[in-house]
Amino acid sequence: MPIETVIRECTACELCCHADLRLMGMGAIPAPIMVISEAPSGKDLMRRRLFSDPFGQYLLKNLVAAGYKQNDVYLTTLLKCPIKADQSMPATGVMTCLSFLHEQIRQVKPKVIITLGSTVFSSLVTAKKKAKLTTIHGDTFVMNGINIVPTYHPSFVVTSDKDLRKKEFYKDLWRVHEMVFGVVGLHKKWPLK
Ligand code: SF4
Repeated sequence: MPIETVIRECTACELCCHADLRLMGMGAIPAPIMVISEAPSGKDLMRRRLFSDPFGQYLLKNLVAAGYKQNDVYLTTLLKCPIKADQSMPATGVMTCLSFLHEQIRQVKPKVIITLGSTVFSSLVTAKKKAKLTTIHGDTFVMNGINIVPTYHPSFVVTSDKDLRKKEFYKDLWRVHEMVFGVVGLHKKWPLK
């Protein structure tokens, strides 16, 4: 059965939303870079488009500034149903959606995966579960031959009062772009206008 159908029919956890509202991802398949966030937002569901809320828009703006083109990247989320800001991720949901995500990774065949936020990173690189994102962001970890580069979730970056986090987030994105394409200096200079 196609993975899209399996995801639409899943009722494994309490986050279960209407089948038609599940958002798989957006971008090119295959793609050399995959970006994985936590879950769709309420706005994403209303608009039927991932990364359509202000945090998602911030990510997309930074990707463009860092030199990414449409065919360079596939963007998706770990959880396929939305989660409220005050809700914690259910273990069953993470486990089940993780198996869907692994299938998506097999289809996209990325050279590098950028994970946004600590939950997505620690779900993929379990050996580094306790690592602090402020310490390891931008580093490279290998899982089944694929490079994984963790960085912050855009909501953390946007709401942080430190410009440093915004700069680190942007730097992590353009570093991955340079890692994959090997062309130095295509990105805009910090701070972004
Ligand atoms: S969040 Fe994932 S595991 Fe939970 S119902 Fe939705 S698709 Fe299934």
